[in-house]
Amino acid sequence: MAPSTSRFDEQPRVRLAELPTPLERAERLGRALGVERLWVKRDDLTGLALEGNKVRKLEFLLGTALRDGCDTVVTFGALQSNHARQTAAACARLGLRCELVLTRAVPLSGPAFERSGNLLLDYLLGATIHVVPHDDDLLAATVEDLHAEIDARGGRARWIPPGGSDAVGALGYVGAGLELADQLAEAGAEAAHVVVASSTGGTQAGLVTGLRLGGSRATVHGVAVYRDAARTHAEVARLALEVARLLGVDPVPEADLSVDDAFLGDGYGLPTPGMWEALATAARTEGLLLDPVYSGKAAAALASWAAEGRFGDRDVVFVHTGGAPGLFAYADRFPEPTVP
Ligand SMILES: *Cc1c(COP(=O)(O)O)cnc(C)c1O
Repeated sequence: MAPSTSRFDEQPRVRLAELPTPLERAERLGRALGVERLWVKRDDLTGLALEGNKVRKLEFLLGTALRDGCDTVVTFGALQSNHARQTAAACARLGLRCELVLTRAVPLSGPAFERSGNLLLDYLLGATIHVVPHDDDLLAATVEDLHAEIDARGGRARWIPPGGSDAVGALGYVGAGLELADQLAEAGAEAAHVVVASSTGGTQAGLVTGLRLGGSRATVHGVAVYRDAARTHAEVARLALEVARLLGVDPVPEADLSVDDAFLGDGYGLPTPGMWEALATAARTEGLLLDPVYSGKAAAALASWAAEGRFGDRDVVFVHTGGAPGLFAYADRFPEPTVP
């Protein structure tokens, strides 16, 4: 499965991200965690409206939307969705209308959570925002209204699933996997352990596929931050199959898709002590800003697995998928006084 045998380069794509993102050594964080050779893949540096992993997916999602003559994008997420913010920014840049359907899937409230963070930026970026309670019937009714509204004005919409996770979106992380395979080869770290947050699954599915296409022997460990391991794994497997079909390559073997949900805590978007500790450690050793919902929980897994000695003496790569704008939504939940 050499890269040249896949149809990756033929896929409709619009350039939005600053690529390649750096693969950086994190010596001080590595020392704090007891990892001799720790690397951070800086997908927080994708460079659109602050940052994040969804920009890679949007290059392909909006590439097909433009090819298909769409004038509108509709997508879904929780109130503090990074995906929604990055979609709003990409639409602004491309002159597309953006409709965000944001559900109250996280049982948190308060001025920071309901106004700041990603949501503030969604408004600033000019998206039309529909806030919906966490209720399937109300969500369905909102979708129906939107369909009718777009039809009535003769518009054409690309409907993007939550997290941008369909096969087209996952292509963004096939690109990241190809990129990382080259960087690991150059660093002499072909057999690295790679730790990544996994929510709607497109990131992990694409990453594993791209690493394999790039000839890498790295092992990817998904950290479930949204649903339990079984459901997350099922989504990752489905997307890995679909993206392989789109590329005309063999799907990655089932054994390559590993997901652990031991760091999810009470659920999606709900802080855990390990997350806060990982956030502070990354910030204070490297000046690296993680987020409470995704990268913070993935870093809690990294810390715990390093402490168990699970990585042996192999190189370890932490994929920093971004999300720091979400920090501000948790301002009143940070467990330490912010003003000394
Ligand atoms: C969406 C997101 C993820 C997870 O990506 P999925 O493709 O949904 O699994 C990880 N980190 C951050 C910061 C995200 O916003």
